[in-house]
Amino acid sequence: MEVKNESGKLCVKCVMPEYKPDITFNAAGQCSLCSGHKDANYRRQEGPLLETEFIKMLTRNKKRGRYHCLVMCSGGKDSTAALYYMKKRYKLEPLAFNFDNGFELPDALENVRNTVERLGVDSLMFKSDFMLDMFAAIVKSGAKAVICHVCSIWYMDIVLRIAAGLSIPVIIGGWTKGQTSRGGIRHPEFSSMAKGTADFLTGFRRQNPKYRDFPASVEEVIKRAGRRKAACTVISPHWFLPFDQEEYSGMIKRELDWKPTALSYPAGSTNCRLNFLSVLLSLKHYGYSHYHAEMIRIGILTREEALKRLEINFKEEDILPVLDRLRCRLDDLCF
Ligand SMILES: [Zn+2]
Repeated sequence: MEVKNESGKLCVKCVMPEYKPDITFNAAGQCSLCSGHKDANYRRQEGPLLETEFIKMLTRNKKRGRYHCLVMCSGGKDSTAALYYMKKRYKLEPLAFNFDNGFELPDALENVRNTVERLGVDSLMFKSDFMLDMFAAIVKSGAKAVICHVCSIWYMDIVLRIAAGLSIPVIIGGWTKGQTSRGGIRHPEFSSMAKGTADFLTGFRRQNPKYRDFPASVEEVIKRAGRRKAACTVISPHWFLPFDQEEYSGMIKRELDWKPTALSYPAGSTNCRLNFLSVLLSLKHYGYSHYHAEMIRIGILTREEALKRLEINFKEEDILPVLDRLRCRLDDLCF
C-alpha cells in the first residue's frame, strides 16, 4: 500500500516531513524540530531519569486498597515488561488491566492471559464496541481527529475511573522513552493533531447524545480525575530503567513465554488493527503519524532504522475487515 506525503520531502536529520506552520524546513533541508535544538540529546525529552526516583515515587504512593498499582497491559513487549517489573523487580501487588476497543490482536490478548497466569496477578479484561460509531464518523467525515488519540482519551478516562474506584494510587503504562502518557501535546509536532482531535470531539459530542459525556482531550480527562479527589500518578518504569527493548523482550520471552504478534504497525509493535486506519488518516491529513514524531524522540534509532520501521507493512486486505466492522468502505479513506 503506497502512501505519499504532500511535498515528498523528509528532514535530512530525522524522519519528519514539512508541515506548515508547525514543522518548517531550513535551506539545508533540516526540520524546525531538529534545527531548534542545538543539543543532540533533545530527543530524550526528559533527560536521564534514575531508578531511585521511580522507587521513591512508589514508596511515596502507599497502597490504599488491595493494589499498589494498575498496569495497563496490551500484551506488547513494553507493557508486559512493565507488569513483570512491578511484580518481580519491585515486589508489588499490581492489577493488570487490558483494554480492547474491539480491534485488538488475538495473539496480543493471548499474551496478556498467559502473562497474568504466570505472574499470578489479578486482571481485568475490558472490551467494548461503544466507540465504533465515533470511529466510523472520523473515517467518513474526513475529520482531522487522530483515531489513536481519541482512543487513548477513552481508555485513560476509564482507567482513571477504575483506579479511583479501587483506590489504586499509581497507574503504570508501558510507554518507552520516546513516548509520553499524554501524547506530548505541548510539542509542535503534536499541536495540530491535538487541535484536530479536540475540534472533532467538541462538535461530535454536541450532536450525539451517546457521546455527550465524552472528554474532548486528555487535559479534560485529568481535570475530571482531579475532581474525584483520588490522587493518581501515571508513569512508566521504562523512563527510569536503563534496559532497552532488546534486553527486556528477551527476558519476557524466557521468563513468561511472551510471543511477538503476527502483524502490527509499526513493525515489531503490538498495536491494534484500528491503528492501520489511524496511521493512514494521519498520513493523509498531516503527512506524518504520531509514530514518526515518537521515533525522533526515542533517540536510540538511526534515521535509517526509524524509516525502516515506519514503512507501511500492511496491505489493503488487512484494513478491509477493519473498515467492514465500522461499516465503512475503502473509498471513505479517499486516497
Ligand atoms: Zn528533523
